[in-house]
Amino acid sequence: MALLIDGKTISLQIKNELKAQAEKLREQGIQVTLAVIQVGNDPASSVYVRNKKKGCEYIGIRSLSYELPEHTSQEQLLALIKELNDRKDVNGILVQLPLPAHIAEDTVIQAIDPAKDVDGFHPQSVGRLCIGQRGFVSCTPAGIIQLLKRSGISIEGKECVVLGRSNIVGKPMALLLLRENATVTIAHSRTQNLKEVTSRADILIAAVGKAKMITRDYVKEGAVVIDVGINRDENNKLCGDVDFEDVEPICSAITPVPGGVGPMTIAMLLNNCMESVGLQASLPF
Ligand code: NDP
Repeated sequence: MALLIDGKTISLQIKNELKAQAEKLREQGIQVTLAVIQVGNDPASSVYVRNKKKGCEYIGIRSLSYELPEHTSQEQLLALIKELNDRKDVNGILVQLPLPAHIAEDTVIQAIDPAKDVDGFHPQSVGRLCIGQRGFVSCTPAGIIQLLKRSGISIEGKECVVLGRSNIVGKPMALLLLRENATVTIAHSRTQNLKEVTSRADILIAAVGKAKMITRDYVKEGAVVIDVGINRDENNKLCGDVDFEDVEPICSAITPVPGGVGPMTIAMLLNNCMESVGLQASLPF
């Protein structure tokens, strides 16, 4: 039977470690603060924002909440970001995506001070990751590395296939695996002979956004399978990109959906908030 990689337990472990760190910082008079901006009231975004704030509360990070109306202009949003960039008491700035269509996401992401970019989406953060410099790393892929390490799964020298090449999951995932000395392949919608490619993987990361697409004919026997997808199946039930029932019997370890990668994303956001203190003190951003 495959090892079930338990993201709930591992994320709680991480949050408890961060809680202890936050307490130590408070004893030194440092209160870590995250500003969370939401524009409009997309229901899914509201759930994510609420969970992020709950995570901050658990650890002892102060969260400042900015809930702006849907019709907020790009200029108004950029003005708020500038104000938060300039505030010495704000360590991290998070703008919940997606933004309404009249606001250019790229412009907003680039307006955030790279020293406060706790989502790790700023081109400078991505560039640092690419050339192996210390900086903020996108939360979901960083969480996956923690899931693997804390489950005792070694990455070095392994054949890893990342299915999906988005800026927030696939690409940073591949770079992080490379940093851990894996041999990395990135596959996507134009990849030929996809099943052949994914079947080479010792560690397969599925980030396609297609409900239960990955059946056992995409997976090598004994592989580790990480399912990033958050989808709804035909019965409107939450499911991943992996057909869990089909794949679980042949792999060595697998993440469930829910309860696998999902909880790690918030844990790593909180980790980035804590890291921001050290990064802001030590790096010439
Ligand atoms: P995107 O839609 O941005 O990217 C999907 C990627 O999958 C693209 O690179 C696309 O290829 C590729 N793809 C799509 N269809 C196929 C196919 N049939 N065969 C091969 N490749 C395919 O998605 P994200 O990266 O943002 O998210 C992926 C999934 O992860 C989603 O379900 C999302 O909800 C979930 N997610 C979960 C998070 C968590 O915390 N657990 C956080 C972020 C995302 P191409 O580039 O060629 O179009």
